[in-house]
Amino acid sequence: ERDSRVARIDAAIRVIPDFPKPGILFRDVTTLLLDHQAFKDSIDIFVERYKDLKIDVVAGIEARGFIFGPPVALAIGAKFVPIRKPRKLPGEVISEEYTLEYGTDCIEMHVGAIQSGERVLIVDDLIATGGTLQAAIKLIERVGAEVVECALLVGLTDLKGHLKLGGKPVFVLVEYE
Ligand code: AMP
Repeated sequence: ERDSRVARIDAAIRVIPDFPKPGILFRDVTTLLLDHQAFKDSIDIFVERYKDLKIDVVAGIEARGFIFGPPVALAIGAKFVPIRKPRKLPGEVISEEYTLEYGTDCIEMHVGAIQSGERVLIVDDLIATGGTLQAAIKLIERVGAEVVECALLVGLTDLKGHLKLGGKPVFVLVEYE
């Protein structure tokens, strides 16, 4: 049953070549949101996997982690915490910088949103180089919380992003080269 659900999810994710720049094959999950069954199946698979793992917090990464994280959090009885791009969160934040191909980027989280000892699931749409997830894991571990797993719709296997995550488990619904 899982296979037919994953096949439908796979088919619903649109591919756009050369976005946002030449050479990038952009995996567009907005088309998945247009297929009610595929959208629901993606959330259901995550909920089935995490409902009994005593997850306290779902941390969603801006922007598409804000689409897939909250329905999972509601269904498994967890809080939802947004991890955002710089200068978006109004309260006191902690930040983590990370390197990109050219230059650096940064993500932020509200102080007090995640407590020491809490069990956290990180949700985003896609892992490419793993840089974003690596920074998110650091941010969450800095406040003394435990990252149980990272859950994504898409994994880009050639980029070997999971190798940056120090053995932290990564769960992806569909993999592309
Ligand atoms: P990375 O930090 O390299 O793992 O990149 C992950 C972030 O960049 C995620 O938040 C994705 O939404 C976005 N991203 C990177 N590559 C792609 C791609 N080929 N298609 C869609 N989104 C991507």
